[in-house]
Amino acid sequence: MTDIQAGEAAAGTAAAGRSGDRPEVPAIELDAVSKEYLSHGETVRAVKDVTLSIAEGEFFSLLGPSGCGKTTTMRMIAGFEEPSSGTVRLHGRDVTDVPPNKRDVNMVFQSYALFPHMNVWDNVAFGLKRKKVPDAEIKRRVGEMLEIVDLKGREKRRPREMSGGQQQRVALARALVNRPRALLLDEPLGALDLKLRQQMQIELKRIQRDVGITFVYVTHDQSEALTMSDRIAVMNDGVVEQLADPREIYERPASAFVAGFIGTSNLISGEVVATSGDLATVRLGERGRVLVNGASRRQGDTVRITVRPEKIKILLGEPDGQVSAVPGTVSEVVYLGTYNSYAVTLDSGAEVTVFEQNANDSTSTAERGDSVWLSWQPHHSYAIGS
Ligand code: ADP
Ligand code: MG
Repeated sequence: MTDIQAGEAAAGTAAAGRSGDRPEVPAIELDAVSKEYLSHGETVRAVKDVTLSIAEGEFFSLLGPSGCGKTTTMRMIAGFEEPSSGTVRLHGRDVTDVPPNKRDVNMVFQSYALFPHMNVWDNVAFGLKRKKVPDAEIKRRVGEMLEIVDLKGREKRRPREMSGGQQQRVALARALVNRPRALLLDEPLGALDLKLRQQMQIELKRIQRDVGITFVYVTHDQSEALTMSDRIAVMNDGVVEQLADPREIYERPASAFVAGFIGTSNLISGEVVATSGDLATVRLGERGRVLVNGASRRQGDTVRITVRPEKIKILLGEPDGQVSAVPGTVSEVVYLGTYNSYAVTLDSGAEVTVFEQNANDSTSTAERGDSVWLSWQPHHSYAIGS
C-alpha cells in the first residue's frame, strides 16, 4: 500500500464516496453563503445564498458562464475571500473565520506559476522542504507523486523544457504532495489547446481516483464537467440552478438556462389537451402532438418541454403509437462527420435541431425542403419550470 492509499484509507474516503455509501460528514459545506463586492460605489452580488455539500472523495464541478461566481465560490472555500454572510465548513468544522493556510485544502490555478529556475523535483519538493519534512520522507513522497502524475524520469527538467500539459501536472503534483484533504482547481486546463485539454481531463480523473481525495473543479466548459464529474453544480448569475450528476443534468435540466447551457437543446411550449394514465398530450400547431410524463398535469396547462437533438427521429410519414409526432420542413442539413445536424422548422413556426448519427453508408434520410415528421419517445420529453 502506498502512503497515499494509506492516507485515503485512514480518512475513509474515496471508495466509500463512490459506492454511494458516503461518510456522514461532508468534505465541504456551504451554508447560505453570499458574497457582495463593492465596486465603484456599486454592490456586485457575486454569489447569492449558495447551499451545497460535497462528499469526501467526490469529483465535484462548479460549471457556469464567465462571471457567474465560480471563482468567488472557490476562493471562499479556500479562505482567500470572506463570505458576506453564511457559513463554510470543512470536514464538519466551521472555517468561516479561518485563514487559508490553516485550512486543509490546496488550490491550483490556471496560471500554475511554477518556479522557473527550479527543476521538476525541486518544484514539487518545495513545500515539504519548507515544512522541514525529513529528507528521506521528501524523497519518498515526491517520487511517489511524480509517478502518479506520470512524470517519472523528468525530475531534472526545468518548466520551460516541458509542454503545457506536463507543467500542469507538475503543478498538480506540487499541490498533492502536501496531502491536502481537498484540492480546488480553478479552470486549470484553460491555457491548453483542445486536444491536450481532453487528454488532461482523463488524466485528472485518473489521478483523482488514484489519490482518492475530494476535487472541486471550476470550469465554463460543459463537456469538461460532464466528462470528469461525479456531480455538477450549474451556476448562473451567482445562483446554483441545478445540482446533480452529469446524466441528470443533461437528461433532465431543471431550468431553461441549464437546458441551453449544457449541450444543444430544443425548447418547445404548448398546451395540454388531454391526459391519460401518466401521459399528457401537448398540442403543437394544427397536427403536432408531444407526449410528456403528465402525472401532475391538467388539461389547459401550458408546459415547456426540452428534448435533446439526438433523441429525435426524422420520418417521412406520420408515426403511429405512443410517441411525439410533429410535422415540419427541413430548413438546413449540416454534415458534421460523425453525425448530421438538421434544422427543422415546425408548422407551428418553432425551429428544432435534430442530430442523426452517421451509422451506415446511407446519406441523410431527409434533404433541405423536405416535409418530414419528427418523432421521439415520451420519456425524452422533459418538462421544465422556468
Ligand atoms: P467566474 O469565476 O464565474 O467567472 P467570478 O467569481 O470571478 O466569476 O465573478 C463573479 C462576479 O463578481 C463578476 O461580476 C465579477 O465581476 C465580480 N467580482 C469578482 N471579484 C471581484 C472583486 N474583487 N471586486 C469586485 N467585483 C468582483
Ligand atoms: Mg473564474
